[in-house]
Amino acid sequence: MQAAESADLRERALRLGVTLTPGMAAQLLRLLDELAQWNRAYNLTAIIEREAMIAGHLLDSLAASGDLAGTRIADVGTGAGFPGLPLAIVHPERHFTLIDGTAKKVRFVAHAARALGLANVEAVQARAEELRPAQPFDTILARAVASLPELAALARPLSAPGTLLVAYKGQRPEAEIAALPPDWRLVGVRPVQVPGLAAERCLVTLRLS
Ligand code: SAH
Repeated sequence: MQAAESADLRERALRLGVTLTPGMAAQLLRLLDELAQWNRAYNLTAIIEREAMIAGHLLDSLAASGDLAGTRIADVGTGAGFPGLPLAIVHPERHFTLIDGTAKKVRFVAHAARALGLANVEAVQARAEELRPAQPFDTILARAVASLPELAALARPLSAPGTLLVAYKGQRPEAEIAALPPDWRLVGVRPVQVPGLAAERCLVTLRLS
């Protein structure tokens, strides 16, 4: 069962261009075990069915794996750690700062990072726009947090010229792109087909000029 689930996860990740070692696949599935367990007490995610978690949390998160640049990565509004935790598992050489305003979610992220032995994850409870990091981030991720103009505003103090903002979206968000402030330049919109998700998905990348 576990072996079949792991093989299936690795095959579907490969279709997203992500090669998982058996160890990474085991960590990703362990993350879902931890989430399911904490969710019973703390109601951290609405997605609870196993296959829905694999597609909607793990694979969707991994879709941006190839869009990361640099070593200092932030995930703004990470919730229960998505996309930050799955990406931290597959990019051990990068450092991930996972930020959320809700204490119980940040507690879960810290617990999961410890349980999985992820030395490259830091969980921070804060409103993202109130953080003033000592160094700007290279890439800022956000899934299901706010509109692009709102994300651009709250990512601004975490950024320097050249910082990438990678947002997970559904349909190509034309109106949001049109409303962006001029200092964030559109790098591209990449449609993604997440194996197991029927919904239309795309990744929007912006660069601060
Ligand atoms: N990214 C996760 C969670 C999405 S729900 C996922 O895709 O599963 C949105 C999350 O963003 C919530 O947990 C909320 O607490 C957080 N959030 C919204 N605005 C925020 C802000 N300005 N700073 C920090 N966290 C924020």
